[in-house]
Amino acid sequence: MTRRRWIAEHWDEATATIVGAQAEHLARVLRAEPGMEADVVAGGRVFHAEVAAVTLAGGASEVRFNLAAELQADPALPVTLVVAVYKFDRMEWTIEKATELGVAAIAPVIARRTEKHLAQAAAKRVERWRRIAREASQQARRSDEPVIHEPVDLAERVRAATTATRIVLAEQERTTTLRNAIEESIDAAKDEMPTLEIAIGPEGGWAPAEEALFDANGWRAVSLGPRILRAETAAIVALAVIASCLE
Ligand code: SAH
Repeated sequence: MTRRRWIAEHWDEATATIVGAQAEHLARVLRAEPGMEADVVAGGRVFHAEVAAVTLAGGASEVRFNLAAELQADPALPVTLVVAVYKFDRMEWTIEKATELGVAAIAPVIARRTEKHLAQAAAKRVERWRRIAREASQQARRSDEPVIHEPVDLAERVRAATTATRIVLAEQERTTTLRNAIEESIDAAKDEMPTLEIAIGPEGGWAPAEEALFDANGWRAVSLGPRILRAETAAIVALAVIASCLE
């Protein structure tokens, strides 16, 4: 059984502390007590650790660890998923699976065909999305957790300055494949690891004006093949293809 891994909220050179609901779960359900061993993530670094003190007090619970040997951290995939907000249950599934697949960041955007009630509610869902990403990071034994950005209008993200290679998954595209675009960015990055931004449209797809905006801002339109995938399927496929090209 692989050792449990926890992401600490507070840390210093010698200790790391988990607080709140996570600490309460550790203390009450998993009966954490001094001496128990676990892996603890503190500031993107992973340590073998031992419970030093447990305070069970509801939302004010705390579990403090003494940090021991530092373990090899596994870097995230250098990929930001730019996801046009879609039905929240599918959105949450995408966040969990993208986290398991090592995504570095998820940037929710409001596209023209994003359903209006989802657009209005998105900003209030970000905290829940961040909690899902944290839990999935722990389950996947990641040494970090993906950044979940605040939702913005698509145009703001498309126009934002970045050094990343920007790729838009375009269901109309027929010639360039995702693999082509990634291999070109690997060649262009020479001995550096490229960073990638991958944009995925809403259920209704990209509006023509949005496709023109991507093009005008240097985003590469790529195809994932002749079949139309659901957005959440496209997200998983894209991350799997990227991981296979980069690792
Ligand atoms: N309603 C649209 C499909 C939207 S699918 C239609 O029927 O044409 C949601 C998003 O997933 C798309 O905007 C695109 O970003 C991505 N996607 C789905 N299938 C794809 C494919 N074969 N190639 C590239 N991107 C795809």
